[in-house]
Amino acid sequence: MQKTIDHILSALDAGDRDTVNEHIRILKEQVGETQNREKTFLALFNSMTEMVVLHEMIYDDEGRAVDYTILDCNPKFTELTGITRERAAGKRASELYGRSLPRFLDVYAEVLRTGEPKTYTSYFEEIDRHFKISVVSPSPGRFATIASEITEIKQIEKELSVKNGELENYLYIASHDLRSPLINIQGFARRLEGQMEKADAMLSPLMKGRDDAAEFDTLWNHDIPSSLKTIHANVDKIESLLNGLLQISRTGRETMNAKTVDMNGLLKQVTDNLKFEMTQVTVDVKIAELPPCFGDESLLERVFHNLLSNALKYRKQGRPLEIKIQGQKQYNRIRYSVEDNGRGISPRHLGKIWDVFYRVDSRAAESGEGIGLSIVKQITEMHRGRVAVESEEGAGTKFIIELPSVK
Ligand code: ADP
Repeated sequence: MQKTIDHILSALDAGDRDTVNEHIRILKEQVGETQNREKTFLALFNSMTEMVVLHEMIYDDEGRAVDYTILDCNPKFTELTGITRERAAGKRASELYGRSLPRFLDVYAEVLRTGEPKTYTSYFEEIDRHFKISVVSPSPGRFATIASEITEIKQIEKELSVKNGELENYLYIASHDLRSPLINIQGFARRLEGQMEKADAMLSPLMKGRDDAAEFDTLWNHDIPSSLKTIHANVDKIESLLNGLLQISRTGRETMNAKTVDMNGLLKQVTDNLKFEMTQVTVDVKIAELPPCFGDESLLERVFHNLLSNALKYRKQGRPLEIKIQGQKQYNRIRYSVEDNGRGISPRHLGKIWDVFYRVDSRAAESGEGIGLSIVKQITEMHRGRVAVESEEGAGTKFIIELPSVK
């Protein structure tokens, strides 16, 4: 617009009326466009479901941020806080909110200093609501806060955490407290076997020559021992399931000790621990230089132990096993992968392998309870990370674990 005004001024100097008229027409168009844009932005500002407030920072003589003035606010701000635009505009935050040192001054000052937007969440007890707030600086010395209400999300998070606690409790009770009756069943079944041996010595001589001796023999030496064997097998199965649940329950209860983790050292430790298993097969493990991540070392050791031992277990017979471990930084995460050329997993099983107790082949010769990958997922999610898998049956599998990068 300034250019058009300059054109008009120089045309006026030159006495060129036609050019003056032409540029006045252009100027009118430009003013109209600006007014339209202003109207659109104002409509947006007024109808936004977020609270938007524009402020100007106040500094003391030493350049420290001490307060700020509210320049403007939208209707959503009034709706949620009860503070009208007339009451807010031109007021200092300390005066409006009744605090000598307004909240988040340091965050706002930082945004003004760096020009980088910031986001944080906060609870406003005056109105009993939670907000996610983004702070941006549209021009020097000024900053805007855009706040979306997240009270409902916070409430759901709270309920979820209570429910999670209850579930963990059930899991603990199921896995821990069910063990003692189970051990009782196991003990009494053994005792019954011992008692039968004693009874055998008493009964066998008495049965000799009786008509029902053969029937007794089938019952005594086949049917009852076979029932006892089934009891033992089922008790063992329940015990191994309970052990699995207990492991999951214990992992969930562990307190995370998060710090920078040297993943090269961690993988060295994992491969050292699997040395024996590795000597049993022809395997080539290639570990690339891995970037560090931010997490709990001993929990992450379990993740990579489970993945590597699976790669060793589910190899393809007759094909030399190759395992590749890599890691790359992607934004604020590190994407690690453990890739093998083993037997692979068919697409119909792929979505279920993270489930507790799920095994692709429940009668597989390889030992396992089907909880290794559930624990991998559980630990990764405790780190707010993500797991993924890509696989081709008969060709191999790639597990991807995304973890937070070093802060
Ligand atoms: P488990 O090894 O005790 O059965 P997991 O939870 O570790 O339990 O794994 C679940 C299932 O996923 C395994 O039974 C196996 O069928 C499949 N699986 C896991 N890792 C691999 C792999 N690297 N290659 C092929 N199949 C795998």
